Amino acid sequence: MGHRESSLHADRRIFLTKAFGVTVGLVTAAATIDARVAVADQASSTSSKQAVASAAGQDNWRFCVKCYVMFYYGYPDNGRCAAGADHSMAGYNFDIPYDIPETPNAQANWRFCTRCYTMYFFGYPSGGWCPVGGSHNAAGFNFVLPHDIVETPNAQAYWRFCTNCFALFFWGYPEKGRCPAGGGHNAAGFDFVIPHS
Ligand SMILES: [Zn+2]
Ligand SMILES: [Zn+2]
Ligand SMILES: [Zn+2]
Repeated sequence: MGHRESSLHADRRIFLTKAFGVTVGLVTAAATIDARVAVADQASSTSSKQAVASAAGQDNWRFCVKCYVMFYYGYPDNGRCAAGADHSMAGYNFDIPYDIPETPNAQANWRFCTRCYTMYFFGYPSGGWCPVGGSHNAAGFNFVLPHDIVETPNAQAYWRFCTNCFALFFWGYPEKGRCPAGGGHNAAGFDFVIPHS
């Protein structure tokens, strides 16, 4: 962990600055009408990345190389991994839309778990299976995940819902990661296509 700290902290400052800049840009430049147009465009075309980027998104979501879930990397610690200790990130910096209307190609009710930092589906009465023990605990934004649209250089497909732990996990490898419920994750439902920088 120690060997990567200095560079990662620098990276995080860059990410935070970037995120802040986007927020300020939205407030000053994007009128409410523009936001509505962007959402309408998203619903009616496959060029969702631009529309989603026009709406709010949170970056610093990453793939965990140990358990294959999507987890939030924006805190000094990295939550709890079903493979032991904390999550370990690699790959794209995902920028995930939130607090926008659900559409036929975007599912709401995805949330951050305060205990394990995983992105999980909050739309069922039970809260899935958290690596910390018990079920996940939702907080923060209501994320709305694009699905069943064309993969682009700025959006990665093969992200799926796990029926056992309710996490969003990457299904694109032969192995299916590590599920807190035991074994690998088990995919069902939509093929999510997650925007990234
Ligand atoms: Zn993990
Ligand atoms: Zn959890
Ligand atoms: Zn699972």
